[in-house]
Amino acid sequence: MLLYNSATHKKEPFVTHTQNHVEMYTCGPTVYHFAHIGNLRSYIMEDVLEKFLRWSGYDVNRVMNITDVGHLSSDADTGEDKMLKGARREHKTVMEIAQYYTDAFFEDCRKLNIKRPDTVQPATGLIDDFIKIVSGLLEKGYAYIAGGNVYFDTSKLDHYYVFNNQDEDDLAVGVREGVEEDLNKRNRNDFVLWFTKSKFEDQALKWDSPWGVGYPGWHIECSGISLKYNGEYLDLHCGGIDNAFPHHTNEIAQSESYLGHPWCKQWFHVHHLNTNSGKMSKSKGEFLTVSLLEEKGYDPLAYRFFCLQSHYRKGLVFTWENLDNAQGAYNKLIKKIAALDEKDGAVDEAVLAAYKEKFDQQVGNDLNTSMGITALYDALKAKTNDATKLAILASFDEVLSLSLLEKAAELRKKQAAQTQAVAGSYTVTGEGDPAIDALVLARGEAKKAKNFAEADRIRDALKEQGIEVTDVPGGASWKRV
Ligand code: AMP
Ligand code: ZN
Repeated sequence: MLLYNSATHKKEPFVTHTQNHVEMYTCGPTVYHFAHIGNLRSYIMEDVLEKFLRWSGYDVNRVMNITDVGHLSSDADTGEDKMLKGARREHKTVMEIAQYYTDAFFEDCRKLNIKRPDTVQPATGLIDDFIKIVSGLLEKGYAYIAGGNVYFDTSKLDHYYVFNNQDEDDLAVGVREGVEEDLNKRNRNDFVLWFTKSKFEDQALKWDSPWGVGYPGWHIECSGISLKYNGEYLDLHCGGIDNAFPHHTNEIAQSESYLGHPWCKQWFHVHHLNTNSGKMSKSKGEFLTVSLLEEKGYDPLAYRFFCLQSHYRKGLVFTWENLDNAQGAYNKLIKKIAALDEKDGAVDEAVLAAYKEKFDQQVGNDLNTSMGITALYDALKAKTNDATKLAILASFDEVLSLSLLEKAAELRKKQAAQTQAVAGSYTVTGEGDPAIDALVLARGEAKKAKNFAEADRIRDALKEQGIEVTDVPGGASWKRV
């Protein structure tokens, strides 16, 4: 596979430390609110990447954190803890907020066919590991204590800006308008590893540490969680593009300084979902959720389809019109697949292999998911039998996860349910089983002939099979209960 690596600014062959094995880490959500569909764009593309790697024969160990402490309202080290803000807004405890929004996040993931990572670790569950890393950084001289907090000293590094070569003024953090600069810092980009002094004295979650009672900075959690579950050598680190700086830059600084060797080979960043007024963001307060899309009648998988139609390294503009188009195209695709007959021939293994090879080349070129979608239409047009087409589609859907065959089966069932059995003026509607239709018809005939005993006998026999018959004007309808 070729994959763009943000650390080298190049598309490169994907290589791992151990053959056929990928240690993969993903920055998880900050659980103070619902994930918006922008966040979920990142998780969809990371999910496709993981599934593509598995499909190509890698065994993947994927780890994700849940940020339930330490992420302040600025991405630098200033402002209020986002979790605390959420708890105050909803009159709940921080842990209640964390649990509620973690569950909501995984429910959204389920609806979008995003696989749960092998390990999911909330930051608050690994405080001792973070303390160990901070202690190690102090011992090695990469960190210092000032004003009660422990800071990482970025001047100790030869190369701090891994993802860009911009100068410090362009990347100034903690100096956004309205945000005060932390005067304890020796260098502008130094960042907090451990807080004991915060302007917000009511910080809800605190732990004892060698530097006093406090809480970890945001960046240290990802280094700590990855080191514990992925080991010292990480192959692939993912996140949204806004995480590249300062979050990932700081993760690299602290992990490599602590370990004393290079840490992660490949960095995968998903670009933003934007609205006409700019980046969709939780802190702006107005954002779209999966539940809202559902309330408006969209299938969450139509949103997944919409995301897959464009490349992860390009900004994607969300409009309702774009989503309508995606929903329409997705429905049509399912309809075409539903028209295929799986009993039409045996799978032609040579054709299947050729299509898989092409998909591997195309999608494997920097995760080109729009070519993956095109490949679905190509499969439908293939000069082969339906059984082979369905096998090709099933294989591609292991990566794209659009539930193509399941949705097609549902549609076929729905279409069958609408078929009606008619005898004279008596019409039976049911769930598409001709044997049941016939029995319900027979009951109708018996009733017409005033043979009520026979009609009741049939109704009871159907009931035994879990079938409920309801008389409707001009006939009857049946359903499984
Ligand atoms: P958060 O819950 O704010 O920590 O963000 C979770 C993930 O979503 C991170 O990887 C972010 O980089 C990513 N993200 C945030 N906003 C957007 C957006 N508008 N489009 C795509 N990804 C985003
Ligand atoms: Zn992270």
